[in-house]
Amino acid sequence: MAIPTAAIAWRHSRPRQVLRYGFCLAFGATFSTHSAVLYNPGEYPTSFRSPLDRLNHLPAEEATAQTAEPKTIQLKMRCHCGRCSMDWDVKTQHLSVTRCYCPACRHFQASAFAAYLAVSVPLELTGGYVQKLRGTCETLDTVERLLCSKCFTKLAVLPLGRPGEILLSLGSVADNSIPAWLASRWQTCFEEWSRDSEPLWWRARPGPCALPRRSLQLQGGCACGRCSFEAELLPGEAQHCYCKLCRQMSGSAAQTWLPAPKESFRWTRSAALQLMRTTGHGQRHVCTACGTVMTIVYDSQPDCIWPAAGTIDDAKLRKLDVGAGRTVDDTADPMWYRVIHICCAWMQSWYQLPDDGLPRLKFAG
Ligand SMILES: [Zn+2]
Ligand SMILES: [Zn+2]
Ligand SMILES: [Zn+2]
Ligand SMILES: [Zn+2]
Repeated sequence: MAIPTAAIAWRHSRPRQVLRYGFCLAFGATFSTHSAVLYNPGEYPTSFRSPLDRLNHLPAEEATAQTAEPKTIQLKMRCHCGRCSMDWDVKTQHLSVTRCYCPACRHFQASAFAAYLAVSVPLELTGGYVQKLRGTCETLDTVERLLCSKCFTKLAVLPLGRPGEILLSLGSVADNSIPAWLASRWQTCFEEWSRDSEPLWWRARPGPCALPRRSLQLQGGCACGRCSFEAELLPGEAQHCYCKLCRQMSGSAAQTWLPAPKESFRWTRSAALQLMRTTGHGQRHVCTACGTVMTIVYDSQPDCIWPAAGTIDDAKLRKLDVGAGRTVDDTADPMWYRVIHICCAWMQSWYQLPDDGLPRLKFAG
């Protein structure tokens, strides 16, 4: 059998022992697993951390030459539909990046954390489609959250107790407006807020596949409470997606998706629910009142629905994270059999994947 060129390169660089999984969307089949050496041109090697890997491994003098720091850069923010946009000339020494794990920020962004870029510039988002929501954050207290009212891209947070300060949702800042040297620096200098509230599913590792898995009744919903759902989730697969759409609609680094059988999924509140087409092959359930993105429904998977892990009630997350009788330190839980990073070919440069040995698919899983 012919081996693709990329696979040959990998074989010479670093053969990898990986597990191959059988997966049935209807969840009715037995999951058979076996060990195999798999060279997949659709994956990056597990050593892949970010698109800037090459830059980060340059000799010091060469890296310095490539990262000569200009005093001012032009940052661009664009929502997914293009109705909201803003450009700023900013001085780089005045920029700082933050991850907030507080439940309010996580829920609004339907992600493991909110990623913010703090700037002190006048806010002049153009287009007239900016929706403002009053909310809270454990660190910032009362805030105003800004999003596009048409496509629900998360744009920024205004801390009402800190006049003049703006925290841009970093996932919506245009990738090509962040110089590589700056993105490389941000990878390692995020300030972290409410770290104790980090959801453990963000660090989940697959356990032994032969162990029996339990289904779990979950409840979740949007940030404002107008939409809620319940589902019989089979804990097992988690996909951390870094595509541009997930980043814009969350405003964060990624969104994590968990498959559930559609027959078990039920909306318990749907006062502001909208199923909107977001790609040529999928739709997402969104709350039109608060903009929370709650699910993906793929056209090709009529029996499956993918709730965003970031929208599942925290009280249920603990069970989902560690399972009965296990300690929170044990992230290699048998309930997880496949955890992967997907759409890494489109990932942003300012985030570095953890050194977790998990598969890194270039495109969708
Ligand atoms: Zn928009
Ligand atoms: Zn927060
Ligand atoms: Zn809502
Ligand atoms: Zn995505």
